[in-house]
Amino acid sequence: MLQRLSTGHIVWRLDESCSGSLSPKLIDLLSKWAQRSFWSREAGGLLLGFVDNETEGLLGEFATTPGRGDRRSRTSFYRGPRHQQEAIEWNRITDGRGTQLGLWHTHLELDPTPSQTDLEDCCNVLATGKFAVDGILYLIVGTRSIGCWFAKSGSPLVLLGYFPHE
Ligand SMILES: [Zn+2]
Repeated sequence: MLQRLSTGHIVWRLDESCSGSLSPKLIDLLSKWAQRSFWSREAGGLLLGFVDNETEGLLGEFATTPGRGDRRSRTSFYRGPRHQQEAIEWNRITDGRGTQLGLWHTHLELDPTPSQTDLEDCCNVLATGKFAVDGILYLIVGTRSIGCWFAKSGSPLVLLGYFPHE
């Protein structure tokens, strides 16, 4: 369901109508926030990108990152309203093509799994947010791998797979 291409892209497919990719630039950006040190706090934000015209695939290209208005601890991350403003800005600078594709945050786990709080946050975002397709990508950056899930409102998260990051 998930594989790395020689270009460095990660591509994933859930079924005929639901697929996507993560660019090497996006993977690099997320990897930089992995909690490698004993003092690292959780990080997170929104996944931004495009929807492919032909396949409706979710093309992950960029992400918002921690900053003003967020609350971060060793084991929690609260996303402030600035992230949403940055998603609107992303849409503007991409001439209305860029959109919000999902959520990401970090965990102090080698191969991360969503917590109860994560599931509730995801459910909440699905219920209140507006997305280009029916569902969002949910990434958790662990200390060894990045876990990828697809979330649809009213359904449990579906694991797409894990891939190691540098
Ligand atoms: Zn979490």
